[in-house]
Amino acid sequence: MKFGGSCLTDKSAFNKILRIIDIYKDVKKIFVISALNGITDLLLKAALNLEEATITDKNISLIEKRHIDIIEQIFEEDSEHYIKAKDWIDEKLSELDDAFADIKEFGLEPYYRDYVLSFGEILSTYIFNQYLLSKGLDSVYIPANKILITTDEFNNAYPLYDLTNFRIKRLILPILENPKKDIMICVTGFIGRNKIGYITTLGRGGSDYTATILAHSLYITGNDKNIKVILWKDVDGLLVINPIYVSEPSLIKNLDYDEAKHIANFGAKVLHPKCLEAIEKYKIPLEIRNFDKPLNEYFTEISEETNREQIKGISAVELATIVSVTSGSLVNVPGVLAKIFKTMSKNKINVSFVAQSSSEISTSFIVNATDSEKAIQALNHSKFFSDFFNIKWESVAVINITGLKILENKTKAEVFNALDKKNIKVKAISQSYNEINLSIVIDKENLFDAINIIHDDLYEEFES
Ligand code: ASP
Ligand code: MG
Repeated sequence: MKFGGSCLTDKSAFNKILRIIDIYKDVKKIFVISALNGITDLLLKAALNLEEATITDKNISLIEKRHIDIIEQIFEEDSEHYIKAKDWIDEKLSELDDAFADIKEFGLEPYYRDYVLSFGEILSTYIFNQYLLSKGLDSVYIPANKILITTDEFNNAYPLYDLTNFRIKRLILPILENPKKDIMICVTGFIGRNKIGYITTLGRGGSDYTATILAHSLYITGNDKNIKVILWKDVDGLLVINPIYVSEPSLIKNLDYDEAKHIANFGAKVLHPKCLEAIEKYKIPLEIRNFDKPLNEYFTEISEETNREQIKGISAVELATIVSVTSGSLVNVPGVLAKIFKTMSKNKINVSFVAQSSSEISTSFIVNATDSEKAIQALNHSKFFSDFFNIKWESVAVINITGLKILENKTKAEVFNALDKKNIKVKAISQSYNEINLSIVIDKENLFDAINIIHDDLYEEFES
């Protein structure tokens, strides 16, 4: 079970966690804990602004205050666990202070960045574990950098499963499979370590990923294959559309891993897109549940099963730029696409959508609006492109419609009919071979209307 920062806000939130533990009292549990709300941002902000000692001190005391506030609410003053939690905060904040001094001296190297960000989870998870102990529950705190071994990519590390499995087998299974004791385990989300011991992080919002990586490794190393991941959130689950576009959109009750990957990538950031990779192969189910309503029958389940007769979700990329590279002369010449994408990759620009007609005259692709200038400049600076191609760009929005049903002609016809009713012009489209996602590029100004009319007209195809 993963508890995000929004589940750790005050005493009543911690009480709710006890209730959840009681509901799941008959199963073995591992908790993955995120930083308190806003702490990761605060740590980052602090690390980025170390010029003035007074500002750094202010940031550190703010971080301290947030944790002390929680401690004072959830523990009895001067009790054993209160004191332990307080001492921990003192100790860790002094380590953080040392880290800030190093950063001032050596600069914010990628390693330091991850190290600093790791403090959020290290503080919250230790406190969480002390809370369980204070309630008479048996529980151990395990920082993930003891068990989750990752690649060296600071800020966006990937698990090295063989090494991680080995650690899980050695450090987690003996606790979990001990028949005499019912011990819970509290693991820090978001962080890991590389082979030589430096702390790494899995990318922002990465605690979801920690939970699925643990499930993956337990599945491989443990005897019990009956494993489930539950992500407790402050929402009921994944919605078919972000509520900023449509009022009270319905909840997606079930979807498969592929559909979920698409939705997580575009969606309202309820689910970390990378985290499905870890559980898909072993068909480990994942639930997203509202931590306020643990017995609610409305939640999202991601598993092998899906209703093939449904559209699962619509999402939008609001700030996108479409770039089109056109040439009448260079058709049938191998390597043009390679050159385009090499130029993007050299400039670290991510391309999220590609369309080329089979005449090869024109290729269009989407980049983030923030990268658009860089992308155009890079193409214009290349002699190959400026001599033979016409390069155009425009700010646009992209709508993604996800679900197996989108493979049907009838559904596509309905989508285009809906847009036609509102006179909304489709500027480009893309769907990979047999892919369950259709992307439609339109004018930015039309985004709201487009999503609404598609939602209204295809209402019956959605889950409700
Ligand atoms: N605390 C980290 C973040 O804010 C990880 C997480 O919340 O999942 O990005
Ligand atoms: Mg967070």
